[in-house]
Amino acid sequence: MAPADQKFNNLILPDLHGPFHIIGDVHGCFQELHALLHLLDFKVEYNEIEQRFQAKLPQHQKLIFVGDLVDRGPDSPAVLQLVMDLVEQGLAFCVLGNHDDKLYRKLKGRKVKVRHGLEVTMEQLQDRNKAFIDRVRNFIGKLPHHLVLDDDRLVVAHAGLEERLHKKNTRAARELSLYGPTTGQLDQNGFPVRLDWAADYAGEAVVVYGHTPVYEPRWRNNTINIDTGCVFGGRLTALSYPDFRLTAVDAFKLYTEPARPFVKYAKAS
Ligand code: MN
Repeated sequence: MAPADQKFNNLILPDLHGPFHIIGDVHGCFQELHALLHLLDFKVEYNEIEQRFQAKLPQHQKLIFVGDLVDRGPDSPAVLQLVMDLVEQGLAFCVLGNHDDKLYRKLKGRKVKVRHGLEVTMEQLQDRNKAFIDRVRNFIGKLPHHLVLDDDRLVVAHAGLEERLHKKNTRAARELSLYGPTTGQLDQNGFPVRLDWAADYAGEAVVVYGHTPVYEPRWRNNTINIDTGCVFGGRLTALSYPDFRLTAVDAFKLYTEPARPFVKYAKAS
């Protein structure tokens, strides 16, 4: 079961119809996120008096983050602050990524291995006060593991989600949303070997996800992975919905050497 302090009552939002801009794994790449929002016509400003980010955006448009806001990149606290501010202003939604969840467990004082970029985030958080850390912990603790929007036509989950678990608030739905299916074995770098759930997806809902860096987002069976590995020197990508337009900014630099090559899909024939 999910911890008692995590309530997932905000999973299903059928009355939200968009337009949405769904943004892939940010991993602390604040400058690229700022540039991407600019391309999407979001005017983001930092209000010094209120000490928060404010955004002006085209009417009714909202952002959805696929999770993994933090770790490995240059400024995870700034990304957290921007996303928290936008979510609180009703301008954005965010689902939980495995890196966000691990940061949450660390901030709750649980025993986690501080690696895979979490050490970078913890270091960056040293410059922030207790109120900010408390806010981050409360924010991540309330993130849903997946979202269902637009009369069940759109599903957003960090690692994707097979159809039978859509709208399910169960341990299995949470685990697969965060990590995706794995073989139970580890590769030569010590990472779990991931299974390609999207190859078997036959649902009508569009599933937008991240988690596994790919060279190019590509549609497969009504699913699309938009994690184009910004923190690994790739790009930060947004998918606009319902017109399915892709917008991307190149990483300003390579922040972390990728532990394994990005997934490269064979060219569609
Ligand atoms: Mn990720």
